[in-house]
Amino acid sequence: MTDEKESFNKGIAVRFAPSPTGPFHIGSVRTALYNFLFARKNGGKFLLRIEDTDKERSTKEFEENIFDSLKWLGLDWDDKDHLLRQSERTAVYTQKIHELIEKGAAYISKESEGKNKEVIRFKNPGGKIKFQDLIRGEVEMDVSDLEDFIIARNINEPVYHLTVVVDDMESEITHIIRGEDHISNTPRHILILEALGGSRPIYAHLPLVLAPDRSKLSKRKHGESVSLNFYKNAGYLPEAIINFLAMVGWNPGTDQEIFTINELIKDFDIKKVQKKGGIFNIEKLDWLNREHILKQSKNLQIERLKGEILKTKFKDYEKVGDPEFLDKFLVIILDRIHRWGEVSEILEAGEFDHLFIDKPELNKEIIHWKKSTPEKARENLEKVVQIFNEEKTLEIIWTKIEKLAEERGKGDVLWPLRYALSGREKSPDPFTLIKIKGVKASISSILSAIEKLS
Ligand code: GLU
Repeated sequence: MTDEKESFNKGIAVRFAPSPTGPFHIGSVRTALYNFLFARKNGGKFLLRIEDTDKERSTKEFEENIFDSLKWLGLDWDDKDHLLRQSERTAVYTQKIHELIEKGAAYISKESEGKNKEVIRFKNPGGKIKFQDLIRGEVEMDVSDLEDFIIARNINEPVYHLTVVVDDMESEITHIIRGEDHISNTPRHILILEALGGSRPIYAHLPLVLAPDRSKLSKRKHGESVSLNFYKNAGYLPEAIINFLAMVGWNPGTDQEIFTINELIKDFDIKKVQKKGGIFNIEKLDWLNREHILKQSKNLQIERLKGEILKTKFKDYEKVGDPEFLDKFLVIILDRIHRWGEVSEILEAGEFDHLFIDKPELNKEIIHWKKSTPEKARENLEKVVQIFNEEKTLEIIWTKIEKLAEERGKGDVLWPLRYALSGREKSPDPFTLIKIKGVKASISSILSAIEKLS
């Protein structure tokens, strides 16, 4: 067995090799992440390769989506000028197929089925193939059943098993970190690699990312929620997605749950990746996302908040440009959300209309507290207006309102006040509302409530 330390010294290179045949799958994102972490931790290269041999299903749009997503996530890859795109490398593969045929390791086979089809088959020596896997330990598989497997549909149309080996050799990949769904392909790759005279990389087959019911995360069953775009559009932060995916299938062996990418690079250990499938638990993602939102700088938070408001019916309201309002609204909203996308959802649902609309619509029947009377509510609101008119600072105004509430009953004073300010049965407390609305708008809301009751 190759000593791992030894191979580290010869210059680590890993690759992430997605096929651009659909929206970037969340399981592939994790494969990219583990490759990235492993490379950065060991001072190696993290290469990207586009496996677009399936011409019908591969598109430029999906390819662009992979580039954009990796950049958005901060998983920047190396050697950008030497990106391998398999659709552009047919000549290289054809030459390797010839080489294999010349060596007697492969042959052209006339297929009895189909019209005079000639495929290229690898001459399978049979027997057992053993390899070391960083996660699963020693793996042994019998290749006899594979018979002489196909490596190209014709001399110019190689299949994945050939292209992957040729490219990994050319890029001098030292560690192949990929999904467990490829483990059954590995013996074939080893056979081809050895026939081409390549040296064997170290393998690490990652357990799958599973849904909470332990089923495979598939588009058919789980819809858009299997793609990264879904989370990006819902307002999750890239750093939270990274933190979350790192821990689907790996943990540092300590209590630490919140990690920055640099902390992950420091602590990540591919050997601690578990063998069984990792669960994609959205509650955990929500929790982590909230933690990362709270870690963002205030400037970034304000920018994000503003961006969210601009997506809503309040986009043209003056308040969006008022730094003081945004500061105060931020405090309230941070108490509520797990992801930024929730802000526009909450605003569209009308829950914070009162903060944007100075005079909310009021329902006369509920201005007074249910255990009291409209008359009392009116009297108390008039007293509140008086306090506003007599005092200058918010602190004193509030102290006096509190005193009034003590004397005349909390429900009798604070319910009508809160409702007058918000127009809602549930809202933040009246003091918070006054702080956000400001004195002028607060007085005018209270006066409209009094008018309604008269
Ligand atoms: N193109 C393959 C996939 O998207 C990955 C192949 C590999 O990593 O060897 O599943």
